Amino acid sequence: MHDLIGVGFGPSNLALAVAVEEHNAHVAEDRRIKALFLEKQPAFGWHRGMLVDGATMQVSFLKDLVTMRNPTSDFSFVSYLHGIGRLVEFINHKVFFPLRVEFHGYLEWAASRVDHQVRYNAHVTAVRPVRSEDGRVTAYDVVVGEGDTEVRHRARNVVLAPGLSPRLPDGVVASERVWHNARLVPNVAATDPARVRTAVVVGAGQSAAETADYLHRRFPEADVHAVFARFGYSPADDSPFANRIFDPDAVDQFYEAPDEVKELLTDYHRNTNYSVVDGDLITELYRRVYEERVAGRQRLYIRHASRVVELRDGGEGTDVDVEFLPTGKTETLRADVVVYATGYLPGDALALVEGAEAVCAYDADGRPRLGRDYRVVTEKPSAAGIYLQGPTEHTHGIGSTLLSNIAVRAGEILASVGEHLGRGTGSNGRAVPGVPGQASRGAGGNEDPQQDLALTRRS
Ligand code: NAP
Repeated sequence: MHDLIGVGFGPSNLALAVAVEEHNAHVAEDRRIKALFLEKQPAFGWHRGMLVDGATMQVSFLKDLVTMRNPTSDFSFVSYLHGIGRLVEFINHKVFFPLRVEFHGYLEWAASRVDHQVRYNAHVTAVRPVRSEDGRVTAYDVVVGEGDTEVRHRARNVVLAPGLSPRLPDGVVASERVWHNARLVPNVAATDPARVRTAVVVGAGQSAAETADYLHRRFPEADVHAVFARFGYSPADDSPFANRIFDPDAVDQFYEAPDEVKELLTDYHRNTNYSVVDGDLITELYRRVYEERVAGRQRLYIRHASRVVELRDGGEGTDVDVEFLPTGKTETLRADVVVYATGYLPGDALALVEGAEAVCAYDADGRPRLGRDYRVVTEKPSAAGIYLQGPTEHTHGIGSTLLSNIAVRAGEILASVGEHLGRGTGSNGRAVPGVPGQASRGAGGNEDPQQDLALTRRS
């Protein structure tokens, strides 16, 4: 019986594994948390297909795996730089937003340090509730498919971190020439640049702008057409007041807010994250278009106020019908490469949980109900818990799928798990491990009553 099994090992569950590691190092053996993380990839990797050279992080390096929860942690990005002998050079560089490749190196370094908690090549196919004689769920069996056999790992708590899935518009099917940007880097590497005369990029978010930039650089003979419905790329709002929407306190406020206020805030601040581009990259793309106008050889075409109405396989290329919305006029481009940078969908949170409808509580829109501590509310009181990392935008706000809050969130989940196990972590998720703090906020009324008593005393 594990205390906790994490399904998926991206940054969110990595931050949780680090929190477990730090907690276990500070407490007596009987209060340690026995954790296991299962990941289908053969090794740690985070959006590898978008590790474009030169691309930078969109969040500060201080929002790493630990610093917001425990600024003295040796799992911080600064500790990583110190460990590999690059701290002084980084300081001289004077940046808050490191290269994505560099941050990926940091995440791999942290993952290697908690390797003993992780099993890679472990594809979880189901999470099966285990019931006592009176029908109450007492644990979960996490099933890993291995060829014809399945291996079951039992846990009192399961933390699902399903990540995001690439989204293609209805009717679009990925192929040798039609990609989602999630596969950008490996697909470009496998393509002979001399063969690419025309590339089309669909979308106007950060991925689309980075893709247009990358294809333009990597295919030096090609025309690159960026197609989107907006008039121009819109800058991401990273101004300091708006950025507070990603603060830990903002999660408290969002969680408590009525549904209509949640919707209002999400709509107001979509442009901190969705369908927006880093201002420096917009300036660089404009500079390139202008430079080409001066030189008289245009290769980068910004097809604003436009949309792709049809794709047809034309044998030697893909015919892309692009409509200019103000006139309705359509032009056909014969493309060697078409990249859809059309965003991502959150994973179906409870898809793996067998009979989830009978176990979990849902809101009127069919979304899982959650406690502030990210524990899924269950129909009946249960000593066993399911926690979600990621698909919680409807309850915990716009930062849910981002790195912004993963350090604090990991601490909050660990504190809740500890309390439900009757082994308080001595933390509210934001404190340094080992330093007693307040108990974390409640789990929305789905606790085992006996556990509750114990919790009340400890608080
Ligand atoms: P996104 O922000 O959701 O943008 C998706 C784009 O695709 C939008 O322009 C959207 O247009 C368009 N689109 C969606 N469906 C479409 C359809 N059916 N037909 C045509 N266009 C369609 O996705 P993203 O750019 O992948 O960014 C997602 C997240 O990843 C963001 O948090 C971003 O910051 C992050 N990211 C970070 C980095 C980095 O750290 N360097 C790099 C890339 C991405 P509408 O607005 O009209 O819907």
